[in-house]
Amino acid sequence: MFDWLIVGAGFAGSVLAERLARGSGKRILVIDKRRHIGGNAYDHYDDDGLLVHKYGPHVFHTSSKEVFDYLSQFTAWRPYQHRALASVDGQLVPIPINLDTINRLYNLRLTSFELEAFLAARAEKIPCVRTSEDAIVGKVGRELYEKFFRNYTRKQWGLDPSELDASVTAHIPVRTSRDDRYFTDTFQAMPLHGYTRMFERMLDHPNIKVMLGVEFREVERSIPYAQIIYTGSIDDYFDCRHGKLPYRSLELRFETKNAPVFLPAPVVNHPNEHAYTRVTEFKYLTGQEHPKTSLVYEYPCAEGEPCYPIPRPENAELYRKYEALAAATPGVHFVGRLATYRYSNMDQVVAQALTLYAKLIGLPRHLTAVAAAA
Ligand code: FAD
Ligand code: UDP
Repeated sequence: MFDWLIVGAGFAGSVLAERLARGSGKRILVIDKRRHIGGNAYDHYDDDGLLVHKYGPHVFHTSSKEVFDYLSQFTAWRPYQHRALASVDGQLVPIPINLDTINRLYNLRLTSFELEAFLAARAEKIPCVRTSEDAIVGKVGRELYEKFFRNYTRKQWGLDPSELDASVTAHIPVRTSRDDRYFTDTFQAMPLHGYTRMFERMLDHPNIKVMLGVEFREVERSIPYAQIIYTGSIDDYFDCRHGKLPYRSLELRFETKNAPVFLPAPVVNHPNEHAYTRVTEFKYLTGQEHPKTSLVYEYPCAEGEPCYPIPRPENAELYRKYEALAAATPGVHFVGRLATYRYSNMDQVVAQALTLYAKLIGLPRHLTAVAAAA
């Protein structure tokens, strides 16, 4: 008899398995329908021996010391500050938009102060920022919005930014400095030996059994367990009885180049040309030394693996119906990006899982870090 059946071996499932086994001595069965652990963060060595991220590039960053300390038990880190360029008007310029972006694009020599005035003169007054269009037009005005955001967003989401919640683009900053980092979080680093190695260490405990290539519905009735932690899509769990929650998917095309370096930056975004949104060169992220290099092109699409919950009001409303069903389903706990239908980063999912663990064992939230370090 298992104390917990955990569905999904991604961040949400693995953190909870680790905590419940190592922290509380529970007996855990983790299943995943995929043939590997790590969920969307899974990485592996390809046929050329290059370390790649199977489900798209994953860059770790967090401002939570608790999350960073927790994961540091299972991996050493390689300090890594992510950077991206955008291909706009025939140039490659920094994105997020910063002082160099504007000076290069318009052939100017503005100072930071002057850029502030430049942007203020263009930003539109938006009394209530609701959509992703509002979030950008309210900061930089319509012209820059159109150059950098409108078409990229249409490709990425299959929707106009005016149809998406502000949260989708609002976290992309606009800087009047020359800082060209994609993130400014306190902790920015990649697991030194990759994500999969980190997950292996999290799940390496005598109380944790992992079964791969196993679909929940196939084993639900045949495995003895007391309670469930479910990290798959919440609408799937309830057989889509209120209708299907929309997810955006991605087709990834990997390409190996016979050169040690190919791109001028870890990522190049293509807002206005090509069917793909961006191309990433893994070696920048992994730090691997190798005579060849691997790139991945991201082609957003409607069908396929559920990758991105789509943040817009009607989807949030539909999700709330499933959330109500979840609340009325004792013994099953929903956690993670798909199960809570949130566009969350890895660190947010780790934090959500640690919070659920604290709740399950009746610990005040702030003690989980102490428990994790014990
Ligand atoms: P998942 O990783 O999706 O794990 C859920 C697991 O459950 C899956 O392995 C799935 O196979 C399994 N499962 C589902 N249903 C069933 C079932 N019925 N039976 C058995 N198993 C099932 N975050 C960042 O912080 N930085 C990034 O750079 C970043 N880049 C991203 C790029 C892409 C293309 C995508 C899609 C996401 C990115 N993210 C990034 C977000 C990150 O992937 C998620 O925050 C994280 O993977 C969520 O973990 P999770 O455990 O909730 O879900
Ligand atoms: N975005 C854009 N142009 C860019 C980069 C981002 O329009 O050059 C928008 C787009 O809608 C994207 C969102 O901002 O989905 C969030 O960007 P981020 O790079 O954080 O996307 P993720 O890594 O989550 O796919």
